Amino acid sequence: MQVIIAENAGFCFGVKRAVKMAEEVLDSSEANEKIYILGEIIHNPQTVKMLEEKGAVTIDEKDLEAVEPGKLILRSHGVPLEVIEKAKRLHFSIVDTTCPFVKKAQIIADQNSKKENQLIIIGKKEHPEVKALLSHSLYNAIVIGSFDEVKNLNFKPDVKTVIIVQTTFSGNEFKKITGEIVLLYKEILVYNTICNATYIRRTESLSVAEKTDVNIVVGGKNSSNTRELTNFLLEKGYKAFQIESPEEIRREFFDEAGCVGITGGASTPLSVIEDVKRAVEEFCL
Ligand code: SF4
Repeated sequence: MQVIIAENAGFCFGVKRAVKMAEEVLDSSEANEKIYILGEIIHNPQTVKMLEEKGAVTIDEKDLEAVEPGKLILRSHGVPLEVIEKAKRLHFSIVDTTCPFVKKAQIIADQNSKKENQLIIIGKKEHPEVKALLSHSLYNAIVIGSFDEVKNLNFKPDVKTVIIVQTTFSGNEFKKITGEIVLLYKEILVYNTICNATYIRRTESLSVAEKTDVNIVVGGKNSSNTRELTNFLLEKGYKAFQIESPEEIRREFFDEAGCVGITGGASTPLSVIEDVKRAVEEFCL
């Protein structure tokens, strides 16, 4: 059995940066200093566990009033502005790990919140990044998560309309949705804020899938880009299974497979991908 790992598997730039920043804060903290992470810093359980073992405490926004103030690490895909303001009012010191690519979309939302323009955010309403982007638009933007939702747009056709998109959104869906929206408005400005890391992972996964019989996509269950990567391979007609850890590997994945491809979402550590590789090799001995 041959096992091939996709070339750029492992953390993307933004996730690497966020985890490094969190580790530096934890490594330089004083004894008894309180270090919190607001929500999952990235959608990967192994990394969240590693940071918690170093002393970080993961909390929700609703816990802010209940805990003793300390350093508060914000996740790589952003946090709504009012939550940051609340934390500052409660005397937390903020460590903002927001990825620069997400920041870029936030700046466009900021700029358009102060203009007459109509702003559309293409993305999943429940995704933390989209919630943060909406706050940067001062809640004036409309979120569109699918082609079917385009009909809900009630903006004026003759007012300049600006589009931004969740960094990990599917490129194909984005194309379909914007193709429909551009027909509705006289003047429209589309910012493709989809991150390159997503595109690179797809291209490399495709090139691995072409050489293999089955593909394992490794990533957190809440990771949007991992799910998109799995769906992308399935839509292209390749056999693919998504798992979070080596324990989820099943013998039936490998029926008659001579070659297995392993890839992962942008928030999957390389160490977990290598653990999966070892487990696949042991499984098929
Ligand atoms: S996927 Fe892109 S936008 Fe998201 S953290 Fe990684 S580099 Fe940044």
